[in-house]
Amino acid sequence: MKTPVYLAGALAALTLLVPLAAPAQAAAPKKAKKPQTVVALTFDDGDATQAEAARMLQNHGMRGTFYVNSGTIGQEGKLTESQLTALAKAGHEIGGHSVDHVRLNGLLPDRQREQICGDRRALMEMGHEVSTFAYPFGAVDGDARQTAKECGYAAARGVSGLRAVTCATCSTPAAESLPPANRWNIRGAGSVLDSTSVRHLKQQVLNAEKAGGGLVPVIFHVVCDDCGQYSIAPERLEEFLVWLEKRRSRGTVVRTVAQAVGAKPGPLPED
Ligand SMILES: [Zn+2]
Repeated sequence: MKTPVYLAGALAALTLLVPLAAPAQAAAPKKAKKPQTVVALTFDDGDATQAEAARMLQNHGMRGTFYVNSGTIGQEGKLTESQLTALAKAGHEIGGHSVDHVRLNGLLPDRQREQICGDRRALMEMGHEVSTFAYPFGAVDGDARQTAKECGYAAARGVSGLRAVTCATCSTPAAESLPPANRWNIRGAGSVLDSTSVRHLKQQVLNAEKAGGGLVPVIFHVVCDDCGQYSIAPERLEEFLVWLEKRRSRGTVVRTVAQAVGAKPGPLPED
């Protein structure tokens, strides 16, 4: 039997359509999977110089995360309660860093709860949401992670685990995964020191971009000229921020840790 002419025409049209349609379908999922590098600018210990750093971030449309010790708020050289309120009002995140900046590993769980839950309670009583925590000295063990979780934190940041920019041969990852592999153990690439150059800071972001994105927590302490090992000069921070703002065109953005992790904190435990 002969194939009717109209059917043969339809078949020919179909074979023409199929190869044309295929590339369009293949392109669609690629677009949705655009890798993104999220930089979290974090400031530990509630140093008074960080108030100016916060203003610098704001001038670039950025918001940071300030990990403060509730036990030292308002002491000499530290941010005051009203300064922290102003930071939160401006959109910065206020996170916990223990009451007294103690090493949590090795502490008994009860003492860990005092330092982690007690700190969060004090900050919450000042009107802050307090979603994330940073382990003082990055000193953490399984108990401390469990306690941070029980105290209602959505996530907690350590200090190490990511590749230091100065270590070319290290095989550790350049960025934390998003969502983080372990929300109560967000890794960092060490603290920014007075010996850290702007080139190092940029390289850390570039390495993450090259590795396909992820979370890059940058850990600052004192923001002031010639103020010890854990300080960065304001001019160097500004130079980094100017550069970082331009990376937006590459899909690299600055977020607070709570925004980056995207998890909601829980209530404080009843005691
Ligand atoms: Zn600290």
